Amino acid sequence: MFASARFKLTAWYLLMIMLVSAFFSVVIYANVDRELVRLERIQEESRIRAEDYFGYAPPARVTTIIEESLIDEARQNLLWDLAILNACIFLIAGWAGYFLAGRTLNPIRNVLDMQARFLGDASHELKTPLTSLRAEIEIFLRANKKSIPSTVKILKSNLEEVVRLQKLTDSIMELSMLEKIGTSIPFETIELTEIVKKAIDNVSKLSMSKNIRINSKIGKARIEGHKKSLIELFTILLDNAIKYSNKGSKVALHSKNKQDFFDITVSDNGTGIDKVDLAHIFERFYRADKSRSAKSGYGLGLSIAKEIVDLHKGTISVKSTDKGSAFTVTLPKKL
Ligand code: ADP
Repeated sequence: MFASARFKLTAWYLLMIMLVSAFFSVVIYANVDRELVRLERIQEESRIRAEDYFGYAPPARVTTIIEESLIDEARQNLLWDLAILNACIFLIAGWAGYFLAGRTLNPIRNVLDMQARFLGDASHELKTPLTSLRAEIEIFLRANKKSIPSTVKILKSNLEEVVRLQKLTDSIMELSMLEKIGTSIPFETIELTEIVKKAIDNVSKLSMSKNIRINSKIGKARIEGHKKSLIELFTILLDNAIKYSNKGSKVALHSKNKQDFFDITVSDNGTGIDKVDLAHIFERFYRADKSRSAKSGYGLGLSIAKEIVDLHKGTISVKSTDKGSAFTVTLPKKL
């Protein structure tokens, strides 16, 4: 598909350039031809004047500045030069057009590739829980004896799968929403401490279940941003910090006030992230936890976090050792 689109685009580039080139060639030829005609006319007039003056036709070499055959030859040469020039322009423009068409189409190809990969990954992630849901229900319906405890067990397991599926579809929708709103997102001035407090509230159930204390040292600061998305951003980072930490460990939040930016760091004493995984954790559906255990999600959390940070023209970075990880978000004070 892209090869034929590239050829078509090249053909269009070439057509435009050749039209311009042909137009200028015609203009050049017409101008030169006009001058040559003028020269022929001047020669003819001077011949007539000389004939009148002498009373007889003087030899041609007296009145001729340039011979007629040379003028015709000049015309022929000009035509050839213009034809060669146009052929060169055709070849160079064809090569340059093909190169430029490739460069023009590359970003579109990358976006389409990314979308196709995203669609493939999303369908794969949807297929696994749906298959297990279907199998469980089918086995349950085929069983002769259906006691209440076994029914409750099946329903509980089904509910778990449904909740996971719902989380996945919520994440996919959130990602597509963030992509769609792009720069049209409404920003307001917000207090950072308020955002962090809301994010801590969102993960309090999980932190309590693992007996993890969140130590927050966020200084008072006002930034411009989208409140709901920023709460989501810190909820994702805190949720990960708790998920990938052992019971009873600590998670810390602290901020640094720079001239035009604020650094907010979420650190934990958890499992840490392998060096090989560090470069990929912000990619969609990437999970460093290859066993895909229950605690890991779908690998969309950090992609959403990155999208939110990008939306606020900030950066997100991570440092990790086997003693824990620290995610630092840098947000501009004013957009
Ligand atoms: P998930 O939903 O699987 O947590 P994320 O996109 O949030 O997906 O994270 C991607 C991967 O990065 C996770 O699978 C996990 O292995 C790793 N990761 C993220 N945060 C942490 C952390 N604080 N400590 C250790 N590993 C982490």
